[in-house]
Amino acid sequence: MIQQKRVLATDIPGPRSTQLQARKSGAVAAGVSAGLPVYIEKAEGGILVDADGNQLIDFGSGIAVTTVGNGNPRIIEAVTKQIADFTHTCFMVTPYEEYVAVCEKLNELTPGDHEKRSALFNSGAEAVENAVKVARHYTGRDAIVTFDHAYHGRTNLTMGMTAKNMPYKQGFGPFASEIYRVPMAYPYRWPTGPQGCATEALEVVKSQIHTQIGEENVAAVVIEPIQGEGGFIVPPAGFLSGLADWCREHGILFIADEVQSGFCRSGSWFACDDEGVVPDLVTTAKGIAGGMPLAGVTGRKEIMDAVHGGGLGGTYGGNPVACAAALASIETMEAEDLPGRAREIEAILRGRLEKLAATYDTIGDIRGRGAMIAIELVEDRETKAPASALAAAINKACHERGLVTLTCGSYGNVFRFLPPLVIGDELLAEGLDILEEAFAAATS
Ligand SMILES: *Cc1c(COP(=O)(O)O)cnc(C)c1O
Repeated sequence: MIQQKRVLATDIPGPRSTQLQARKSGAVAAGVSAGLPVYIEKAEGGILVDADGNQLIDFGSGIAVTTVGNGNPRIIEAVTKQIADFTHTCFMVTPYEEYVAVCEKLNELTPGDHEKRSALFNSGAEAVENAVKVARHYTGRDAIVTFDHAYHGRTNLTMGMTAKNMPYKQGFGPFASEIYRVPMAYPYRWPTGPQGCATEALEVVKSQIHTQIGEENVAAVVIEPIQGEGGFIVPPAGFLSGLADWCREHGILFIADEVQSGFCRSGSWFACDDEGVVPDLVTTAKGIAGGMPLAGVTGRKEIMDAVHGGGLGGTYGGNPVACAAALASIETMEAEDLPGRAREIEAILRGRLEKLAATYDTIGDIRGRGAMIAIELVEDRETKAPASALAAAINKACHERGLVTLTCGSYGNVFRFLPPLVIGDELLAEGLDILEEAFAAATS
C-alpha cells in the first residue's frame, strides 16, 4: 500500500532520475521526450513513486488513462488471471470471449440505444483511422471534416486530422488528402463573444462545407465533444447537437472522438451524453483499460457491418490481457459510480480555481466538465494574449513541488487537470495547494 500523500525525499528530479535521464539520452530517440523526467517505480491511486523515493501527486493520469487508478485491485486480479490463462492468439485467427464481452459493453455504454457493433484496436490513433475507413467504405465518399484545435493522433492520417503543427506535424508531411478543417466553436475566443458562438460557429461550418467541399462529398465530420490536447475547449450547448442533426440531413456520418473525454472523465460515461448527442460512430481508448493498450470503434450496426470480412483488424487489436483490464475497469466505474465521482472532483476543482482566478487575473477562463477541467492563462483579460511562458513557469513550479501537471492548447497556455477518478479529497486539496504555491512562485 502506498500512502496517499506527497513525499519530497530529494530535489525533483532527484539524483537517480537524473542518472536515468542521462542513460535515456544515450538510448532513446530524442523525439520521444518527457514532460517531467522523474522515473517511476511504483504507483497507486493518485500517487506516483519515483526512483529517488519521492511521492508525486498525479494530476495527469498518464494523459487521462488511469481513470480507475494505478494499482487497482480488480485490474491486477483480472490481468494476472488472464496472463496465466493465455496472452495472445490473435482474434482474427482464433477468437476468445473477452474481446466479445468488451464489444458488448461498448455497445451498451456508448450513446444511443440503437443496435451497434464494435471493433477493437491498440491506440486512439488507430481507432480514429479505422473509424475513417469504415465511414468512407459505408458512404462511398472521400472527404473528412475536422476542426481547429483538433487532436486525433500521430499516425499519418491522424496527423493530417490534427490541427497543431508543433510538435505533432512539423517536418512529417506530406499528409493524407481529402481532410478539411473548419472553425471550432470556442466560446472564450469566439470573435463576437460566447453568446452567439454556438449558432454562428454552426453557420460558418455548414457554409464552409457547402462552398468548399460539397455536402455530398463528405464521408464524415470528426469531432472531439470536448477537445483534449487543443485546450479542453467545450463547444457551447446546441453546437454538437445542431451539427449532428445537419450531418444526418446530408448523409454525413457524425464521428465523436471520445478517446480523451470518454469513460467517465467528463462526469458522464461519454461527453456526448450531456447534450443527448448520438454519434454514428464513437472512438474510445485512453481511460478504457486502466493503462493497458486498447481502443475501440463503436457504431450503428449497418455502418460497422458494411465492411467485408478481413477489412478491419490487426495482429494485436483487442489483446486478451487488455480486454480483461477493460472489463475490470468498466466494472470498477460502474461499482464505484465514477461518473458521479468525476462530478464531485469538478466541484472541488472549480471551487478552488475560481478562488485562484479572483487573485490572478492571468486566469482568463475556467472550463471543462467532470475531472477534465482546465484554466486558460492570458497576459490580460482584455487582449486575451496567450500567456504561454507563464503556463510553462507554473508547470515547472508544480513539478518541482511534486505535482504532476500537464499543459495543452494550440498556444500552450492552457493548464489541464486530469486526476485519476479514485483520487481522495485530501490529496486533491493538497495538489491544489501546490498549484496555488506555484502561481505565487511563478508570478512573484
Ligand atoms: C490521445 C488522443 C488520440 C490518440 O490516441 P493515442 O492512443 O495516443 O494514439 C486521439 N484522439 C484524442 C481525442 C486523443 O486525446
